[in-house]
Amino acid sequence: STEGTVVWTKGVCRFCGTGCGLLVGTRDGRVIATKGDPDAPVNRGLNCIKGYFNAKILYGKDRLTQPLMRRTNGKFDKNGKFEAVSWDEALDEMAKQFLRVYKKKGPTGVAITGSGQYTIPEAYAASKLVKAGWRSNNLDPNARLCMASAVVGFYQVFGIDEPANNYSDIEKCNTMILWGNNMAEAHPVLWSRVADRKLTHKDTKIINVTTYRNMSSNLADQTIIFKPNTDLAILNYILREIVKRDAVDHDFVNKHCIFAAGAMDIGYGMRPTDKYAFPAEKDVQAKQNEIKLDKWEAIAQGRKEGQVVKQTQQGGKAGAHWSITFEEFKKGLEPYTLDFVAELSKGDPDEPMEEYKKKLVNLADTMIDKKNDVLSFWCMGANQHQRGVWVNEQIYAVHLLLAKHARPGNGAFSLTGQPSACGSAREVGTFCHRLPSDLLVAAKPARVKSEKIWGVPEKTINPKVGQAFMGILRGLEDDSINFLWTQVVNPFQAAPNSNHWLKAARHPDNFIVVADAYPTFSCQYADLVLPVAMIFEKWGLYGNAERRTQGWQQMANPPGEARTDLWTMMEFAKRIKIKDCWGEQPVPGLKVEGYEDGKLPSVLDAAKEMGIDPEATLYDVLYARDDYTKVAWPDPDLESKINSTAAPAKLNWFPEKALFNEYRQFTLGDGHDLADFNTYMNSTTRGLMWPVVNGKETPYRFNQDYDPYVKEDGYQFYGKLFKAIPTGNLYGVTDPKPVPLPNKAKIFYRPYAAPVEQPDQNYDLWLCTGRILEHWHTGSMTMRVPELERAQPNAFLYMNPDDAAKRGLKNGDYATVESRRGKISAIVQTNQRNFMPKGTTWLAFFDRKVQTNQVVIDATDPISEEPDFKKSAVKVYKA
Ligand code: SF4
Repeated sequence: STEGTVVWTKGVCRFCGTGCGLLVGTRDGRVIATKGDPDAPVNRGLNCIKGYFNAKILYGKDRLTQPLMRRTNGKFDKNGKFEAVSWDEALDEMAKQFLRVYKKKGPTGVAITGSGQYTIPEAYAASKLVKAGWRSNNLDPNARLCMASAVVGFYQVFGIDEPANNYSDIEKCNTMILWGNNMAEAHPVLWSRVADRKLTHKDTKIINVTTYRNMSSNLADQTIIFKPNTDLAILNYILREIVKRDAVDHDFVNKHCIFAAGAMDIGYGMRPTDKYAFPAEKDVQAKQNEIKLDKWEAIAQGRKEGQVVKQTQQGGKAGAHWSITFEEFKKGLEPYTLDFVAELSKGDPDEPMEEYKKKLVNLADTMIDKKNDVLSFWCMGANQHQRGVWVNEQIYAVHLLLAKHARPGNGAFSLTGQPSACGSAREVGTFCHRLPSDLLVAAKPARVKSEKIWGVPEKTINPKVGQAFMGILRGLEDDSINFLWTQVVNPFQAAPNSNHWLKAARHPDNFIVVADAYPTFSCQYADLVLPVAMIFEKWGLYGNAERRTQGWQQMANPPGEARTDLWTMMEFAKRIKIKDCWGEQPVPGLKVEGYEDGKLPSVLDAAKEMGIDPEATLYDVLYARDDYTKVAWPDPDLESKINSTAAPAKLNWFPEKALFNEYRQFTLGDGHDLADFNTYMNSTTRGLMWPVVNGKETPYRFNQDYDPYVKEDGYQFYGKLFKAIPTGNLYGVTDPKPVPLPNKAKIFYRPYAAPVEQPDQNYDLWLCTGRILEHWHTGSMTMRVPELERAQPNAFLYMNPDDAAKRGLKNGDYATVESRRGKISAIVQTNQRNFMPKGTTWLAFFDRKVQTNQVVIDATDPISEEPDFKKSAVKVYKA
């Protein structure tokens, strides 16, 4: 017996995209402690303050242990009180509500909001359920809220998603540039590696390009404070300098890159109608529809001030682009002189202009200097941006022009916020436009491949891209979506402009299911709450920001009747028959070749020919496999599994393995190759960076010395998605005939454009939002750890002391923060942690008491549909 003995098993941190390895201590079926795994290459034994509390997040006092449904007199009632119900009652009602909506609205009326905190098998199961089972693409993760702009940036520049470099470059470079990335708080262990490098190698330089002084500034050689939204102009200044000084690596660029431009006149992805806008929102909505170029935009874009530009709205056209010549590219950069960019972008009114200019020059010098090995890091600052895709593209442009990318010590490195934003949102394809392994729902061969692997008839998958995260919430408001299931996300606290969605959730036609481990803020707005298992209570894999896939085994049973999201999806799928979803289905707005009548055809006959009975359930088709047909909870063999040193293959069933190995089929030979489940679960494996070919991981992609997929010429960018593009000039296509684009990266011309909302007389301050060191996202886990709650119990409103004093506010006072979208109150802080320039305020979103997102604008990048949480206009006054 192992009773009373502590067993240490490898695990992965539940929190950020750094992906630190843990050792998890269990005793008598309970996780009692975690510590940094000394063998983990990411963190080498270290954890941050959150990481050390991975055990305690499992055991908050108010852990949900039973399904809860709003009921009156024993029946579901939207206006009833929450009552504990059995799983059967919960799932039966859920299936009834799902079918009610599905019959009325078809596949586009139902949706799941998922997460970059799903395990990979959970995400894969969700993708199958929604895309093959429901024939809907309304599945979108909260990763849409944090790195969708990075995804599109990768696609547009390289034709394939995810970073080329890896974390070991921190120890190989001598220069690190942070683009709106407060790594010290958001990626603390990576920051420790940065600090180690800096303190042991005195020639290492760090430049923090940011809108306020933050904890990362403490280590930086230089902090450049820019005005919100003007980073694109700064990047164009650097590009101009590279060209002007003839610092372009012409050999690399000629061989491996082409120049491109795209539609400039794109909107901001706000709601296309103002039907639901609050009165104060309407002027911003009007601006969305008709943008008059201001003086900065006019100069930056080589156009006339006051010119009214016709907006290209979301998706499609907004992402269209064409090739241009180097001379055109150079011409586009002409306006971005030092004087112009400095005047446009200087963010601290108290900083002398000459000082600021020197900093910009130093930034360009440092990046250009041939002696410097340069790493650029970015995360939410660049991604949560109305021009987030463009900022991503321009960071790549700088690195590509200098040939400082995809090589040891040199690279543009997009970090992720969530532990498996890469593994479970991007790679598995839980976005509304994606299928596993970089496949796109809009591409027929991708759908055919997926249908084949999933064993479902051709034309089962809906070719129309689904609603992205904000589109799903807007769908609840405009009555196009009436059934929402949220998993591993707290959308009513996490999404911007939340007053709209709080109201929409309670509309009588909408049925909201919230699956969570704790009674989060979103649970208040639910009709049904499902209690779920947490990280070490299930088998799982995460994929971190350096393409490293890491696995862990189940180590404890969840409390009470809490179940995994995977189990819940499977049990739900047992209640829906294929004939419910696979008949002819309406799809509003479907305009795709082969679907001329705007409907998905019935695939029931084709299913019959494949031997699938119309009476079969979605579970039978999607999930039932010989090796996990007998799902039993709690797991009776758990103790033997935990204490077993045997490879998982020798253990009893568990669906995660079969699902992962099925998912792996998508990746093989496709540049995304994953190893098999057992390899990741092996107690000696500390994760592998994909593609994993012949058992070997790939430290650098696109580079022939490291990437087995690169066969020629030193570097090869895949260009998989864009085999050919038309040619044109800065302002549009001149020759629509597509020219081939053989495996080249694109260097874009992307002009500065103003955000849709800026401080004005009524709302005179910027509000930027973000995360802090001690808390994870909406605080639903970390605020339940007493040590973390005590360390930082409140989200403070950081203000410049003069701005505060002008409003009669001092440290510790409550202030009202009001925007066009609502009012909240928060405690003012003027001199700790963050030092704000005049005119800018900052607030975290972890604090349930504050509900920061009630005042944040829901404008999104029009290409990525990622909201801009960093630029709302607010006024602040004494509460
Ligand atoms: Fe590492 Fe991030 Fe976890 Fe901290 S929160 S231990 S940095 S993975």
